[in-house]
Amino acid sequence: MGWEEMNTRVYPCWCGKGTFTEVSEMDDWNRTRSTRTINCPECAKKEEEEKESLKKERERLNTLEKEIKNYFEDHYMREWLACFATAKNKKRSLEVIGRPRNED
Ligand SMILES: [Zn+2]
Repeated sequence: MGWEEMNTRVYPCWCGKGTFTEVSEMDDWNRTRSTRTINCPECAKKEEEEKESLKKERERLNTLEKEIKNYFEDHYMREWLACFATAKNKKRSLEVIGRPRNED
């Protein structure tokens, strides 16, 4: 139950000074995967940095999302719910959020 190498390709790297190798493999269930090895120290470093900054960006967005949620809950949730407290049915709810009623 292993991966069998199907294809190995060598491409020039992004900066043009080196290469990267892409190896495609297939297992017994015909699943495929490919792994890329960067053979250029410069590009390898660059990719590592990009991964790192992507990770940081994702963490930043996660934090931001949490802050927004907390802010919304702290400042608007009560008012938001109060808006709907007066709406006893769906028709009233639609009026509260400003959707025009169907003209009779
Ligand atoms: Zn390179």
